[in-house]
Amino acid sequence: MSQQKQSKEDYGALLARIRKARPESAGPSEDRLKLPAPQTMVSGKKTFWLNYMEFPSLLRRDPNDFLNYFRSQLAINASIENGRAIFMGRPDKQSFAALVQRYLKERVICPVCGSPDTRLEKNKQVLSLVCEACGARSAVK
Ligand SMILES: [Zn+2]
Repeated sequence: MSQQKQSKEDYGALLARIRKARPESAGPSEDRLKLPAPQTMVSGKKTFWLNYMEFPSLLRRDPNDFLNYFRSQLAINASIENGRAIFMGRPDKQSFAALVQRYLKERVICPVCGSPDTRLEKNKQVLSLVCEACGARSAVK
């Protein structure tokens, strides 16, 4: 019994050491963005994304631009109605969460400093990610 307790304490101490050793900046800044899981519901031939509006609001993106990303990535039409996004198709449930992550990587997180405090700027059809933390301007694919 005492042996078990001992190993538990060791494990706790080890975890504390690992946490201490990890520099602040190495942590993924996505941690700072507490995004909910996309709640979707299929009805007939449509998919309803019920908590859609939380995403562009948390990411400080235009709801229509955000929707356009999904529309083009999933290659299906979609619209926003009463705060929900309605997709004219039945994409894999997992693809919404995966695309949110991809969107974060491509269009939110600054590739230079990892800050999520960024904005998108469009200039002559060229989309750039401008970081409000470090000022970096990165091309968006
Ligand atoms: Zn930055």
